[in-house]
Amino acid sequence: MIELKPCPLCGNNAEIKQTSKNGMRIKCKECVFGISQKVTRYSLEWLKDTLIMDWNTRPTEEKLKDRIALLEKVLEAAEYTCSHVLIPKETDPAYENTQGSLWGRVNILRQAIAAAKEDKT
Ligand SMILES: [Zn+2]
Repeated sequence: MIELKPCPLCGNNAEIKQTSKNGMRIKCKECVFGISQKVTRYSLEWLKDTLIMDWNTRPTEEKLKDRIALLEKVLEAAEYTCSHVLIPKETDPAYENTQGSLWGRVNILRQAIAAAKEDKT
C-alpha cells in the first residue's frame, strides 16, 4: 500500500477510513483537515487509490523542493567562489565593510552562506 504523506497543514500523521458503504475519508489525526469522497459507479478500492493519490499530490511542495535544490547548488557555487576565487590577500577593513564594494558584497554573501548552513543543521 502507498503511504500517506503527512498532513499538509500541520505535518502530523493522517489515516484513511471507510465512512459509509460507498465513502472514504483521509483525515489528519491531529487537526481538522481531511478529504472525503463517495463512489457510485466505481469500487471502494478505486476510491481508496484515488483519495490517496489526491492526498499525496503536492504541486507547491514539489516546486519548492526543486527551488531549494537549485538554490543549494547556487549556494554551493557561491561558497566555492568566495573561498577559492575571491579571497583578497589584504583588504582595507573600511573598504571591506562598504556594501557597494565587491568585498562588502562578498561579505554579505559569506554571512548568507553561514546563515543558510546553520538553518540546515
Ligand atoms: Zn493536520
